[in-house]
Amino acid sequence: MTERIVVVGGGTGGTVLANRLADDLRPELERGEVEVRMVTDNPDHVYKPTFLYVPFGKKQVHEATRPVSDLLDRRVTIQIDEVVGVDTDGKSLSLADGGAVGYDHLVLATGANLVPEEVPGLKEGGHHFYGPEGAERLRDALADFTEGHLVLSVIGVPHMCPAAPVEFVLMADAWFRERGLRDQVDITYTYPIQRAHGIQTIADWASEEFEKRDIGLETFFNAETVDPDEQVLETMEGTELDYDLLVAIPPHGGSDLVTEAGLGEDGWVDVDRNTLEATAAEDVYAIGDVADVPTSKAGSVAHYEAGTVADRIASRVRGQVPTATYDGKTVCFIESGMDEATFVEFAYGDTPVVREPSKPLHWAKLGYNESYWLTARGLL
Ligand SMILES: Cc1cc2nc3c(=O)[nH]c(=O)nc-3n(C[C@H](O)[C@H](O)[C@H](O)COP(=O)(O)OP(=O)(O)OC[C@H]3O[C@@H](n4cnc5c(N)ncnc54)[C@H](O)[C@@H]3O)c2cc1C
Repeated sequence: MTERIVVVGGGTGGTVLANRLADDLRPELERGEVEVRMVTDNPDHVYKPTFLYVPFGKKQVHEATRPVSDLLDRRVTIQIDEVVGVDTDGKSLSLADGGAVGYDHLVLATGANLVPEEVPGLKEGGHHFYGPEGAERLRDALADFTEGHLVLSVIGVPHMCPAAPVEFVLMADAWFRERGLRDQVDITYTYPIQRAHGIQTIADWASEEFEKRDIGLETFFNAETVDPDEQVLETMEGTELDYDLLVAIPPHGGSDLVTEAGLGEDGWVDVDRNTLEATAAEDVYAIGDVADVPTSKAGSVAHYEAGTVADRIASRVRGQVPTATYDGKTVCFIESGMDEATFVEFAYGDTPVVREPSKPLHWAKLGYNESYWLTARGLL
């Protein structure tokens, strides 16, 4: 009987995983002993890091997408549909079109969702760059913004790419300086916890950079409502902050599928942090943003996790004991302006060292972004 491996989600984690499985299980796939199927609700693969550059006119949103079919190994079966239910006892998925898909091994790679509606007034009063429409609207708003108070407020953790909001304000600082407008623009960055970033060394580095560049920092700042008419943010802590342009990282949520299937709280899948196997069901894994592991919600994490899960599933298919584990490896280039960047790498429990920002690291980030399409296909 053909063993069915089903990957839900055609983003970074799902695509890297499906291609790795196609490679690792080539003989079994060719003999028809195994099927690798991707079910994804978007025919396009979206490379979200591109959106950071859109507000500054450095990238266009169309550069962030490619058809997922162009990125997948031809041995992977693609099914464009939304998964609306997971039955882990019956090992079956229900689909929005009314059909069902059975599995022997299931990997959830459904990412994270933006839920701005959790904060009254946010949709009307705030901009963001975490999706294509938001990034384009923000580009237009920034182009018209020549004076006033720009506030970047991160609303809630966890959120995708913890460094991206820091990058945004450092880039905005450089961008306004280049235009000779910085004296007329105040910039404030707010973060919900007691420091500027979840990781102490990155938070220390960011705080120093903010101070050098006259960027205000507010910590323990949890926006509760936005008043779009008065242009005021009100916080759970009882404070208020006026803005002229609000860039907010909206609250994030996992997938309803996960909670309804009893796989985890708030839509994030409860997994063993090393094997990425779901704690509540057999033969179910989660990778990428939807997996609840103690590291960043980042593409690099999804990528390394995909390698581990591909190895583990290939071992299981071959009747071997899986030994591959994920150690929390995360790598991250962090833009520190318009032409310099730094870089950090760490695993679970590590304290990353923030490298001296440099132009070559900025070029490395841009170079990686271009070569991403090869990485997703498993060619790098
Ligand atoms: C502005 C920005 C900048 C970033 N910069 C970086 C960076 O520099 N470095 C870095 O490492 N990371 C960065 N990230 C984070 C990175 O993009 C994500 O962590 C990464 O995309 C996670 O991959 P994923 O596969 O888990 O989810 P995604 O890539 O979001 O893919 C999820 C997929 O699942 C599909 N899907 C969802 N629900 C269903 C369903 N019910 N049925 C079927 N399909 C479904 C979606 O359509 C999508 O194809 C950034 C993110 C943003 C927003």
